[in-house]
Amino acid sequence: MESFLFKFACFDCRVSFKKPATNNIKEYSAHLPEAVLSHKCMICGNKMAFMGRQFQSPQKSDLSGWKSAQLLWEHGFRFVGNGFHNSPALPKKKPDTLAFISENKDHNQKVSFSVDWEVYKAIT
Ligand SMILES: [Zn+2]
Repeated sequence: MESFLFKFACFDCRVSFKKPATNNIKEYSAHLPEAVLSHKCMICGNKMAFMGRQFQSPQKSDLSGWKSAQLLWEHGFRFVGNGFHNSPALPKKKPDTLAFISENKDHNQKVSFSVDWEVYKAIT
């Protein structure tokens, strides 16, 4: 079942884990915009953010990288798909990210709604 695992992240602890997103194999897709299942961070207990299959966790010390990932996620970007599309690659550093978000409103990987991490993480 390894291939059916997706990345979930906690932006506060700066960790990500591979977890199932659904128990229904028919719902599985590399383009899945949101998880059906929710998971809590094993460190702090926050509800973890669903990142998509392709998310590559920044180093724990890479604060800019994690802030970038959080901003993208909060604006509905997910690390979905198979990597083959015409939209520009998602930025990996915070200084590039806000401009990227405003310039890429129709991006291929913008597949979900905007959400505030501070609100989302407390949902039980
Ligand atoms: Zn956490």
